[in-house]
Amino acid sequence: MNLTEINNLTPDCCAAAKIDINDCYKDEKRPLKNISAAVKSIIVVAHHIENSQEWIWTQMRSERGNSTCIADLHTKDTIRDIKDYLKLKGFNTKIVAYPGVSGVRFKELANKTSLGEIGDNNLFLHKEWGPWVHLRVLLTDAEIYNSEPTYSSEVCIHCGKCIEACPVNALSQNDFNIQRCKERHKKLNSAHSCEICARICPIGEEPPKIE
Ligand code: SF4
Ligand code: SF4
Repeated sequence: MNLTEINNLTPDCCAAAKIDINDCYKDEKRPLKNISAAVKSIIVVAHHIENSQEWIWTQMRSERGNSTCIADLHTKDTIRDIKDYLKLKGFNTKIVAYPGVSGVRFKELANKTSLGEIGDNNLFLHKEWGPWVHLRVLLTDAEIYNSEPTYSSEVCIHCGKCIEACPVNALSQNDFNIQRCKERHKKLNSAHSCEICARICPIGEEPPKIE
């Protein structure tokens, strides 16, 4: 199956890319194989956040500690459409649960695709949408072919703006202090995240801020 067939199923605000399981490191393969022993291809779906409301986490029963957001529900719907299509073609699929539950780091997988790369702000930067992207992952035993290049060229321009702007010095060019970032989020106690390192990034167009 060609990746174009999969991308034809996605709405304009979403894009799909694929990775062969054999392109994953041993440590990456383990949790994926635990979810689906027969996995051959990993489909990463990226959804473009065009409205800040989409990323507001609200209390709702979900796999992610009883909170979800419109962006996640929408990206999951797109993944479900791909799942249904693959099922019709006779393939097995598994939707990967959110990273905190599955242990699968979506942005590390997306980093292996032509969608973009992880920037110095430790966020996944889509080549056009920048950090304004929500990711989801689907595993399948289908072999998916892609005529486009597997890796995207550099997206982060290493301008240093995110490193300078982080109020808790959680970022540096080769490191991310997750504890500092988490503590700041805890203090903010807000339904949407800090976003400073995303809003300062010159890649992509930031959606209007929620005051
Ligand atoms: S989200 Fe905020 S605290 Fe976390 S790294 Fe970005 S700027 Fe720093
Ligand atoms: S602000 Fe600059 S250095 Fe930071 S992620 Fe964006 S492009 Fe890269």
